[in-house]
Amino acid sequence: MTPYDTQNIFAKILRGEIPCHRVHEDDQTLAFMDIMPRAPGHCLVIPKWPARNLLDCDPDVLAGLIVQVQRIAKAAKQALGADGVTLQQFSESAGGQEVFHLHFHVLPRWDGVMMHRHPAPKAEMQTLAEQAEKIRAALAAL
Ligand code: 5GP
Repeated sequence: MTPYDTQNIFAKILRGEIPCHRVHEDDQTLAFMDIMPRAPGHCLVIPKWPARNLLDCDPDVLAGLIVQVQRIAKAAKQALGADGVTLQQFSESAGGQEVFHLHFHVLPRWDGVMMHRHPAPKAEMQTLAEQAEKIRAALAAL
């Protein structure tokens, strides 16, 4: 398997070299807004552990990560007033992966509303900031 590339965009976000709209951070995990959201409130949940994708991730790291994915999914659904949530995880180019640091997409969904097809346009920074704030508040109230 191709080794982990420390210069991928999410590694740079983890090191604070690129900004993001943070939703949650702890010792093991970071969650932040996707800059090209395919649905309002589209978040990414990543481990701090250097996994390229699902296939090389330490199982214990993955177990902790999925618990945070559930928390972000619940908070994003509530914060955005959504009807449901879609999770996506792509591993390797053939699987649709473009950024090679493991991430789960958390996409709030509304009955009868399609997701934006990839690539979606870049969101307004103000919109992402407002949504991140709402999701943080919903997380605090879980
Ligand atoms: P995937 O690798 O699963 O295909 O998707 C990578 C995701 O990362 C895409 O949804 C894309 O919009 C998002 N993305 C790419 N570059 C950045 C960035 O610099 N900041 C943030 N917040 N998201 C990004």
